Amino acid sequence: MSTQTDTVTSEQDLLARVTVAEGVEIHEPATGDLLGRAPEHTTDDLERVVTAATAAQPGWAGLGHAERSAVLLRIADRIEAAAEPLARLLAREQGKPLNGPNARFEVGACSAWLRATAATVLEEEVVVDDGSQVSVMTYRPLGLVAAVGPWNWPLMITVWQVAPSLLMGNAVVVKPSEKTPLSVLALVSLMAEELPDGVLGALSGGRELGASLVAHPAVRKVMFTGSTAAGRKIVEASGANLARLTLELGGNDAGIVLPDADPRAIAQDLFWGAFINTGQTCAALKRLYVHESIHDEVVAALADVAKAMPLGRSLDEDSVLGPVQNSMQFEVVSGLVEDAKQRGGTVVTGGSPLSDLGPLFYPVTLVTGLHDGDPLVDQEQFGPALPIVSYSDVEEAIASANRLDVGLGASVWSSDTARAQEVADRVEAGTVWINSHGGVHPMAPFGGVKGSGYGVEFGVEGLKALGVPKVVTRPAAPAAQ
Ligand code: NAD
Repeated sequence: MSTQTDTVTSEQDLLARVTVAEGVEIHEPATGDLLGRAPEHTTDDLERVVTAATAAQPGWAGLGHAERSAVLLRIADRIEAAAEPLARLLAREQGKPLNGPNARFEVGACSAWLRATAATVLEEEVVVDDGSQVSVMTYRPLGLVAAVGPWNWPLMITVWQVAPSLLMGNAVVVKPSEKTPLSVLALVSLMAEELPDGVLGALSGGRELGASLVAHPAVRKVMFTGSTAAGRKIVEASGANLARLTLELGGNDAGIVLPDADPRAIAQDLFWGAFINTGQTCAALKRLYVHESIHDEVVAALADVAKAMPLGRSLDEDSVLGPVQNSMQFEVVSGLVEDAKQRGGTVVTGGSPLSDLGPLFYPVTLVTGLHDGDPLVDQEQFGPALPIVSYSDVEEAIASANRLDVGLGASVWSSDTARAQEVADRVEAGTVWINSHGGVHPMAPFGGVKGSGYGVEFGVEGLKALGVPKVVTRPAAPAAQ
């Protein structure tokens, strides 16, 4: 166990654990203030952490499922005890507000997910029992898992990657996004307090360090959440170490509103489907196709919801929308909206930066009058701008939803669930929601198709992806005389 179990009462206590005197400056998106300096780990650090994890893994695996599950529950308690400091650190580093489905929600989801994972059991399976032989399949730990994550939901995604890995008896090395390292390092330090030394390590650095980690010969599995471009590079790297991969990559989720939907009834859920985490969510609604008969009413209802949502600084208790996390993403969002305007798109609300609040603030922006092929429709904006496209025939909307080379999530909105189900069956995506968008559940497998990646997380299927099947075959017992 780690010796660092000092009390955590504020985000300053967490920062004291993870910041260094000489390191990469991490600035708060909402204010531009310096939050702290993150370590820049080297390839020597990588070797040290990987060696420790590899050495610790057999002992961890030997504890057995019940004891590992109990440790996950203790980790959940530890996170709960430090929930407010973690949420404040997350808000300051990532930019998301404390309230709404944001920082406090994310930290709460971490402990809830750990508890749900701890309660998930992967039973042994009798795969053959034909009178002459009995074959029983169990799942063994893989060994060392590399967990590489993005900056949008940094804590929750770390838990999604780490909790099932640990439960299955693996050791894990986490490489957080270089844009949000401090909150993840703080989370890992809390988790490690409850674990044998070395079982869970973390490395802070950029994409080169991530590339070195995933290509390391000791790594047996990579849990990766991030861009499709980086995912492709990880696939190439796995040609050398044959690491198994779970790839949760980018998306451009379509929503289809059928003509019988009630615009006012669905507006709030449409809004959060698109703008949760200020639009910076992998499985957010990123292009909305609305039947022409109710297009204007849906747009008006969504605009009303958008105008009522407080946007502001991350530590302001009133905010439920915050800044864009970084300038690169801000340029993507504002560039796509500018391009949409040039093409004749109509900005219904928002549409230009809120510079008075700070350089990274961009309002919720709804754009109508666009078509398939326009960049705001075809490219992942990953921020607070939503194109709303009018369609006349549902066949056309299904074809639009399926025409891109991504398929993480999608949604169908209708007053007729059976009709919505028929459409959902024809949409190419890992998850299709009916009358909601983006909700995840610890028992429902989640993953993408096409350029959105392969493999699934969560539930029993997620556990299977963190183990290696092993079959033991024996002769069947002779029939009793
Ligand atoms: P990114 O791919 O730039 O970075 C993600 C992580 O990968 C970072 O830690 C980075 O350092 C590391 N990395 C980059 N190149 C690497 C390489 N060659 N080898 C190993 N590691 C490498 O993505 P981002 O900008 O942090 O996140 C935004 C993207 O992530 C969006 O496209 C979004 O849709 C996607 N995303 C997907 C999900 C999902 O569950 N499908 C969730 C969140 C974000």
